[in-house]
Amino acid sequence: MTTSKPLVAILSGAGVSTDSGIPDYRGPNGLWRRDPEAEKLVTYEYYMGDPEIRRRSWQMRRKNRTLEAEPNAAHRAVAELERSGVPVRVITQNVDGLHQLAGMPARKVLELHGSARSYVCTGCRARGPMEDALARVEAGEDDPPCLECGGILKSATVMFGERLDPVVLGEAAAISKACQVFLAVGTSLQVQPAAGLAGVAADHGARLVIVNAEPTPYDDLADDVVREPIGTALPALLRGLIPEGD
Ligand SMILES: [Zn+2]
Repeated sequence: MTTSKPLVAILSGAGVSTDSGIPDYRGPNGLWRRDPEAEKLVTYEYYMGDPEIRRRSWQMRRKNRTLEAEPNAAHRAVAELERSGVPVRVITQNVDGLHQLAGMPARKVLELHGSARSYVCTGCRARGPMEDALARVEAGEDDPPCLECGGILKSATVMFGERLDPVVLGEAAAISKACQVFLAVGTSLQVQPAAGLAGVAADHGARLVIVNAEPTPYDDLADDVVREPIGTALPALLRGLIPEGD
């Protein structure tokens, strides 16, 4: 007997990484939105226009523990599902890279908000590991310029005031249309266009499962709503998607 292997799309939000010690920074009720001064440090217009904002922003990145965080049970369960042979695509609102660290192939992870693990030049788009830029800050450069062109460097994350990458967004929409199961995990589904992907998936016939502590605007559309903690609920749910006999 052949078992069909449905395409599983997993939209992951801040709640997936809280067990790894990473707080919700950018959500509607996230740390940055509640602190206007901190929000300036991650707002493109302020960042580009003010060297003092950049200096403080680099200090914030230097003290940020995101790069030291380890994947948790939820990240590992997603990677395990992929290794079982089920086609899995992750669409993440997180910038921590923990899905990949847990073993998800990078080409199967779409980072809607970019990655805190890299820096990018705002002039020539040169990229490199964030550690390299932070090492220059540690060594005394307040606002390290691009070594290629002298331009302003920033984290390779999407700042407030920046557009999401249309290519990444297009791929996320295509996956949402094509998948048979769409899990929205640890996201309040309040920020567009990421939240709308859940609606796109449901409109195209996917089974929509929402795993989140708080109600979301898409709960009525969902086939299943799970309120249990992600660290236990998600591994159990994903094991159920692995065909028996595999
Ligand atoms: Zn450059």
